[in-house]
Amino acid sequence: MAGLISKFMMNKIGKSQLKKVVDLEDSINDIPGAIHSTDKSPERFDIVGNAMRRPDGYKMMEIKILPSIISSMKNTKLAIKSMSKNPEKPKSSITTELLNDLKNFATEIGANSIGFTDLPHKLIFQGKSVMYDKAIVLSYEMDKLKIAEAPSFATERMVMRAYDDLGKIGNRIADFLREHGFAAHASHPLNGLVLYPPLAMAAGLGMPGYQGLLISPEVGPRVRLAAVFTNIENLPVAESNPHEWIREYCDHCRKCIRECPGDAIKESAELKDNGIQTHIDNTKCFPHFINKNSCSICIKVCPFSQVSYESLHTIWEKKIAKK
Ligand code: SF4
Ligand code: SF4
Repeated sequence: MAGLISKFMMNKIGKSQLKKVVDLEDSINDIPGAIHSTDKSPERFDIVGNAMRRPDGYKMMEIKILPSIISSMKNTKLAIKSMSKNPEKPKSSITTELLNDLKNFATEIGANSIGFTDLPHKLIFQGKSVMYDKAIVLSYEMDKLKIAEAPSFATERMVMRAYDDLGKIGNRIADFLREHGFAAHASHPLNGLVLYPPLAMAAGLGMPGYQGLLISPEVGPRVRLAAVFTNIENLPVAESNPHEWIREYCDHCRKCIRECPGDAIKESAELKDNGIQTHIDNTKCFPHFINKNSCSICIKVCPFSQVSYESLHTIWEKKIAKK
């Protein structure tokens, strides 16, 4: 019965909302000056649409995640509609003082970390566009105890809330930029317009692990990611990434490969057409993510979720020194 009710709610509310979101996203393609995906761009997996088509529907308790999904869709639309408030002649240079204010503001409103990079156009999802190619990349911490319970409804509810919270943070940062005379286009963390883990890597916020998720120095893979695109030309874009050693650590660890219930993490990396190297098979992971309460087992079992980055780095350096 609950499954039928949830299916009805998803159909009645969710699908029409999602269509409006996708139509709005696609309208960006027609805006003069928009930056389009390339022939090497990745295909987007539609988390929201697939969540709505979940074969078994949702148990009555699970309907509690709906407000976060609906709110995420509302804030995705707001991110696009609010671009109409961008200044007609935006400033393109930011002072050091205002940049520090921006970083402090991001932290105050809940971002875990903030980084800057030029957007590689090949990271824009197929058929999507963004308005500016200077990227402010944001991470948001997911609750440690709820990740430890994965897979569970408590984990799923927390994950969906994290998407929603971070989406609101992105919109507030876009508003902050507009108030100070810059143009901004926020991309929501749920679905989103670009592939976030390599973007966050380019911004120096961490390194994607074998499970395809960003491993951050602050809280390991317990992060969700989003971006705000802007016209600011002099952002301090990352020139290098001090976290590259994580990939070597993954080569040695491989725990997520063994623990993944979807057999979605490959032993050998695949080099995609766009130059991105990945161990993750999204065609196997996403169905599991959708149907098994956001799964998240690969986040739970990762050593970077359990031991501090600094401790693992020290252990790793000693190991390398012995070789
Ligand atoms: S979310 Fe689950 S299915 Fe997907 S890679 Fe992680 S452990 Fe595997
Ligand atoms: S579990 Fe191990 S191999 Fe997988 S992402 Fe974490 S450190 Fe890398």
